[in-house]
Amino acid sequence: MTATATRVLVLNSGSSSVKYQLLDMRDGARLAVGLVERIGEENSRLVHTPLATDGAKRETEGPIADHEAALKAVAAELAADGLGLDSPELAAIGHRVVHGGQEFTAPTVIDDAVLAEIERLVPVAPLHNPANITGIRTAQALRPDLPQVAVFDTAFHTTMPEYAARYAIDTETADAHRIRRYGFHGTSHAYVSRKTAELLGKDPSEVNVIVLHLGNGASASAVAGGRCVDTSMGLTPLEGLVMGTRSGDIDPAVTFHLKRVAGMDEDEVDVLLNKKSGLIGLCGDNDMREIRRRIDEGDERARLAFDVYIHRLKKYIGAYSAVLGRVDAVAFTAGVGENAAPVREAAIAGLEEMGMAVDASLNAVRSDEPRMISPDYARVAVAVVPTDEELEIAQQTYALVNA
Ligand code: AMP
Repeated sequence: MTATATRVLVLNSGSSSVKYQLLDMRDGARLAVGLVERIGEENSRLVHTPLATDGAKRETEGPIADHEAALKAVAAELAADGLGLDSPELAAIGHRVVHGGQEFTAPTVIDDAVLAEIERLVPVAPLHNPANITGIRTAQALRPDLPQVAVFDTAFHTTMPEYAARYAIDTETADAHRIRRYGFHGTSHAYVSRKTAELLGKDPSEVNVIVLHLGNGASASAVAGGRCVDTSMGLTPLEGLVMGTRSGDIDPAVTFHLKRVAGMDEDEVDVLLNKKSGLIGLCGDNDMREIRRRIDEGDERARLAFDVYIHRLKKYIGAYSAVLGRVDAVAFTAGVGENAAPVREAAIAGLEEMGMAVDASLNAVRSDEPRMISPDYARVAVAVVPTDEELEIAQQTYALVNA
């Protein structure tokens, strides 16, 4: 890496998509952002926004056969803005990797052994890790000389005590199949818990925070002095909160029942719980905006879906208050957490005895900045802290290659 290399490309490779951001680490500025979707189909689409120049969005449609073709198309777009991947200013590529198991507790420079280990974790992340591996291999082929760093969704949660990570099932079976609670959204929980401490004017080591990452996927975490001590997602991102299309916590016997009584096979149960449950299963919509609109029109199913969602959220706030013992802040983040004031209001309503309250006028403010929404008298700070997983990945990547 040369002294002038201050840019980091962040890649988030899914099974049929690649999201990317190019950042300048001198100030964290985004130089370009974009995504390629429907890779492998006839109508693939690349949307590129060159923020460093005119910021005018460019869209191209047409077949993009695979991840290699997708990344080459992204490289061509970046080169057209004078930001090509061959630039000496590019310091590293940071890859979001969903599952790092127990092995990866921190961002890691990728070599053959690391790639083999990520591959060994495919059985516990069959939907995500293969796409991440493809993204890494493709980026390596384009710039074999450049450091490539894996930033794991699970890493922040590896500090969970063993009693929080263990399922109470037969130990030999659990160990043989790596069945334990890993947690996800770790990059977001790390970033938001740190930013929340900053908002309180404290060092992360001094504060206990409950982070509520409420997007289409949703998870809660209990962070004590900067370290995660519990999180709501488990072996997979299905456990925990009610989500857009996922059930979250459920009696596991429901799955046997569906097989025995409803005649469903594993794949059908998998699809039911991951894609057809949560808010969409309860009311047919997974977008909180639409659910609120329907509630305002008096729609009972939308109301019930909202109430189920809030009840689960409250249970986790209560559980993590007990786990932490002392709570300094509750931080709402991601699409729902950052934008849906009624969700924040309802989740905290009635928790005054626990020192938690929301000020209606502060809660109504719309802003991209971290902000407090609790009244001055409340013992616990309730905050809205916009997440930025790409910036966190870029910062971790840059810090590692400069270490
Ligand atoms: P994410 O996965 O973090 O991108 O969050 C996506 C979800 O955020 C959407 O499915 C919506 O439910 C929710 N969302 C986004 N914008 C708003 C908004 N203005 N009001 C309420 N919910 C929103």
